[in-house]
Amino acid sequence: MRYLLLSDPHSNLEALEACLDLAKGKYDEAVCLGDLVGYGPDPNAVIDIVKATSKIIIRGNHDKVCAGLEDASEFNPLARQAVEWTRQALTPEHFEFLRTLPTGPVMMDGFLIVHGSPLDEDEYIVGPSQALPVLRTPQTQVVCFGHSHYQGGFMLSPQGRYQSIRAQFKHDGNPSTLTLEAGARYLINPGSIGQPRDGDWRAAFAILDLPQNTVEYYRTAYDLPKTQEKMRVAGLPAPLIRRLEFGR
Ligand code: ZN
Repeated sequence: MRYLLLSDPHSNLEALEACLDLAKGKYDEAVCLGDLVGYGPDPNAVIDIVKATSKIIIRGNHDKVCAGLEDASEFNPLARQAVEWTRQALTPEHFEFLRTLPTGPVMMDGFLIVHGSPLDEDEYIVGPSQALPVLRTPQTQVVCFGHSHYQGGFMLSPQGRYQSIRAQFKHDGNPSTLTLEAGARYLINPGSIGQPRDGDWRAAFAILDLPQNTVEYYRTAYDLPKTQEKMRVAGLPAPLIRRLEFGR
C-alpha cells in the first residue's frame, strides 16, 4: 500500500491543490496529520478537500484551538489573530467537524500517525531530545508526524546510531527517496503543505510505500501570489502573508 502523507495544510487551498495534483495516481490511500486550518484564507475549502481525500484525519493544535476546544493562550499574537479570523470564517458544519477530529496517535496498517509526538500531541520534535525517546520506544518501525513544518525526520539504526533526515532535491523534478533499513526506526515528517518553515517555500508532502520500504519526499510550487492576495483581502496579519515567500 502506498500512503499519501498530508500535513499542516493550514487553510492554504492553492498549496493543497498543487500537492494533490502532483500526487495524483501515485498513492492508494491518504492520511492527514492535522492542522487543516489556521494561518491561511481558505479553511472551509481545505477541510472539504482533505475530508474527501483522506481515509483518516487526526487533529492538530490549530484545529483544536480554532474549534474552541482549547483557548489560544499558548499561541503567539499573530497565530492568535489567525485563530480569531478562522473562527469567524468557519461554517457551523466545518466548526463541528474540527471538534470531532480524533486525537493522535492512531495506528495505521504498519505505522503510527501523530500530529506532534506520540508522547504528547502538542510537542514539537525538532532534535534528539524529543526524537530519541520516541525512537527508543518499541512500537512501529515508522512514526509519521507533522507540527514542526520541517520536511524530513529522524532515524535510529539497529546499532543505535541516531541521524536526522533531510530531503535532498536534484533539479530533475524527481522526489527525494529514502529507503527504510530493516531493523531501524524512523520518525517521518512529510513537511507542511500550507506553511513550510524549513527554508523552502514550496508545498511539501510525502508518500510512504511500505511493501517497497521507501519514503518519497516531494515539493511543489503553487500559486503563492493568489494565496497572499486572498490573505490580504481577508485582513490576515502581514507577517503571516510575507513568511510564505521565505518558507520560514
Ligand atoms: Zn501546523
